[in-house]
Amino acid sequence: MSVDRASALNLVMLGPPGAGKGTQAERFAQKHRVPKISTGDILREAVTAQTGMGLAARQVMDAGRLVGDDIMIGIVSERLAREDAKAGFVLDGFPRTVRQAEALDGMLGAQPLVVVDIVVPEETLVRRLASRRMCTACGHSALPEEKGCPKCGGELVVRIDDSAGIVTERLRIYMEQTAPIVQFYRSRRGFRAIDGTATPEQVQTAICDAVTAVAGGVA
Ligand code: AMP
Repeated sequence: MSVDRASALNLVMLGPPGAGKGTQAERFAQKHRVPKISTGDILREAVTAQTGMGLAARQVMDAGRLVGDDIMIGIVSERLAREDAKAGFVLDGFPRTVRQAEALDGMLGAQPLVVVDIVVPEETLVRRLASRRMCTACGHSALPEEKGCPKCGGELVVRIDDSAGIVTERLRIYMEQTAPIVQFYRSRRGFRAIDGTATPEQVQTAICDAVTAVAGGVA
């Protein structure tokens, strides 16, 4: 299939852990039939499969720190080169450093990019992460009222890196290494900040409005 990359729907979901990036990326991907590319999910799959990369990444992830830029850039560049990403994608969890953001620019060249920053105050993030559960089978990020995974029926568990001490470290690392990315993108036409404290439906609508405003009548 030939795809006009100049009209590709490429979306980056920015925001701290617990902002709702995974949930919103999943909804956006389903609605627009583009792949959701979550670097956290890719790494967790590698950990489960006990690949060399998974074994190396596990300790870093469990401690709430970031996996090295070269590894992450390699993973994403390989993933974006696949056929299903050519008409667009939503990235969840990448970029997380300015170096990754620069590398993403290099991968996209002249292709359009919409960047949505989901803004949530720290006390809300801490509260959300304390009660967050994830499906062991498909990685779905569950809502508090869900008992089993609504997508595949899998078991919902608390992520090791969502435990109290590690959450503090992840938020610290976010402020230190990932928040500067917002400055990197802020002055671009494709950048929008969204209030992430509203309901998931309201946040979804705000993201669709932002994408429409930036990319035209696609959302
Ligand atoms: P997430 O599911 O996005 O919260 O990612 C879980 C963990 O995977 C993070 O805390 C990091 O240890 C690692 N990780 C995911 N994406 C990246 C990235 N782009 N750069 C570095 N580490 C990452």
